[in-house]
Amino acid sequence: MSDTGGHDAGHDHDHTPPPDSSEGLGHYNVMEIAVRELLIDKGILEPGQIRAAVEAMDSRSPEGGAKVVAKAWVDSEFKARLLDDGTAACASLGIEMGPTRLAVVEDTSEVHNVLVCTLCSCYPRMLLGLPPDWYKSREYRSRVVREPRTVLREFGTELPDDVTLRVHDSTAELRYLVLPMRPTGTEGMSESELAALVTRDCMIGVTLPGVPA
Ligand code: FE
Repeated sequence: MSDTGGHDAGHDHDHTPPPDSSEGLGHYNVMEIAVRELLIDKGILEPGQIRAAVEAMDSRSPEGGAKVVAKAWVDSEFKARLLDDGTAACASLGIEMGPTRLAVVEDTSEVHNVLVCTLCSCYPRMLLGLPPDWYKSREYRSRVVREPRTVLREFGTELPDDVTLRVHDSTAELRYLVLPMRPTGTEGMSESELAALVTRDCMIGVTLPGVPA
């Protein structure tokens, strides 16, 4: 279970966990089993509810985020609401942020935004699904703060020198989503065609949305 507070407690944590306490199982595995069995024993949750929650979590993908971005590109009123209160705007599309708050940061011709969790792996899972391994790596977490332009270049993203790079450090309570600039040449495209250009990585800010062929 994630997104229940505490820097993605129990998931892919890079903080040094306590030593393994049971043959082959890590600290968080043991904790997960203990809490799950306790919840079932006490009659607070049924196994089916837990399974359904895990399934719902696993079913999240960057498509949710892409839908939000494409809608913001075509609907200026929605975009204004999204930038003002990302949590509420996503809820209006049926995407609940749970206990976390969402801040949407908009790219412009002057500013480009990039996301990181310097402490561990906090990530807008509700909108993007599970974070990629590189996002959780110590290398990305430390380097993107110090030398964002170099890191972006390694992703193949070259930005003009006069564009300011802003790096946003996610926390357990506050997750970010990048609203990239709508690519030129997409004027005639429908919302769903636009959504297909929006990738996970461009909503993290390490790449730009795909340009239609
Ligand atoms: Fe984190």
